[in-house]
Amino acid sequence: MYSGSVIRGATISGMANDSKPKAQTKDQQTKDWKTSLIHSDATVPAGFHSLSTPVYRGSTVLFSQASAASDRWNQYEVGYTYGLYGTPTTLELAAKVCELEKGFRTIITPGGQAAISLIALALLKSGDHVLMPESIYGPNRMFSNSVLRRFGVEVSYYPPDAGAAITAELRPNTRLVWCESPGSITMEVQDVPAIVQAAHSRGALVALDNTWSAGIYLDAFALGVDVTMQALTKYVGGHSDLLLGSVTVRDEQIYNRLGETHQGLGCAASPDDSSLALRGMKTMAVRLKAVEQSALVLAQWLSRRPEIELVLHPALPSCPGHEFWNRDFTGSSGLFSIVFDKRFSKEQVIAFVDALRLFKIGYSWGGVNSLVMTYDMQSPKRPAYGSRLVRLYTGLESIEDLTADVEQALAAIR
Ligand SMILES: *Cc1c(COP(=O)(O)O)cnc(C)c1O
Repeated sequence: MYSGSVIRGATISGMANDSKPKAQTKDQQTKDWKTSLIHSDATVPAGFHSLSTPVYRGSTVLFSQASAASDRWNQYEVGYTYGLYGTPTTLELAAKVCELEKGFRTIITPGGQAAISLIALALLKSGDHVLMPESIYGPNRMFSNSVLRRFGVEVSYYPPDAGAAITAELRPNTRLVWCESPGSITMEVQDVPAIVQAAHSRGALVALDNTWSAGIYLDAFALGVDVTMQALTKYVGGHSDLLLGSVTVRDEQIYNRLGETHQGLGCAASPDDSSLALRGMKTMAVRLKAVEQSALVLAQWLSRRPEIELVLHPALPSCPGHEFWNRDFTGSSGLFSIVFDKRFSKEQVIAFVDALRLFKIGYSWGGVNSLVMTYDMQSPKRPAYGSRLVRLYTGLESIEDLTADVEQALAAIR
């Protein structure tokens, strides 16, 4: 009955009375064992009411009759047709992300970057113009500059603090405006409603990368955004052991554009990874709260240190756009950046990072481990932080130990 799926779970509740194990039936008079391998009569008791979502794996989905066969992607309207468009496991993850982000519908992608490229490929065509903040996630910029431009899309960048002044950057052919709030690495919080108003008044859609807020601390659709994406890799996964993304849309029309493109691109998400993400989601409230508190304690501690010129944490007044965080967000998460004082050389900043013991050097975030990364902000369009910027992610280790780790690494470069 659960052919091709994995049922996991320790707790079983309310096992039905009619589900006593039956003796295995055999039909070997009519079937060769090689046929039995594939067309088995073996049975299992019914009524396994586990707390966990089964992992439904499957490419082929069976139809009751030939005339019922269809290759439509919109499983909600036509029922299941093919594993590429979702299995009950991936669709449950999609439905839960959609519920949390308060959207119309969600599509799960194999990673956050796949969610980004899906949005661009679904909503843009040759001759269109897309506007992105200078603070956009690096691989989104790379994809736009290389692939989108190769397909004849105009790409330009605006200062993340533009707000209503973004009107000056809009062109007659602008079809999509990206927001990322706070921005990658430099953490500028954007005036999203002002950008939405300007974009909509010129007929452009607004997409927002909602990864930092976990889709929880920023209600993007209430601010007027049309489509959001998240790297579920980060907080939803929560354990640095999977890659998944989500695209959530405001309405059916945008959903149809994305669904058709998703079908054509064929980038299916793994039901196994979706199952891990569903598990991660159940503990996300306590994990998010814990990393939020640790990050705030460490950010405030760092803001009192003479070695640090600037703490770029959205909940601190020193962060550009802090007033918009105050207005639009209901919390903060575990990722922020610091800028060392000008007297520190690039070598000293790197020595600080190398001296850290609990903060491991690596990309991504949202898991249980504290992480650190250095960045070279040499673009004339980005703030002049040079090579003095370090990004920190606080995990679930003790905040006393994390602070002591940072303290000893600061001492090491004095
Ligand atoms: C990590 C990240 C992504 C990409 O997610 P992957 O799952 O790693 O592809 C996109 N946007 C932001 C802001 C991210 O931090």
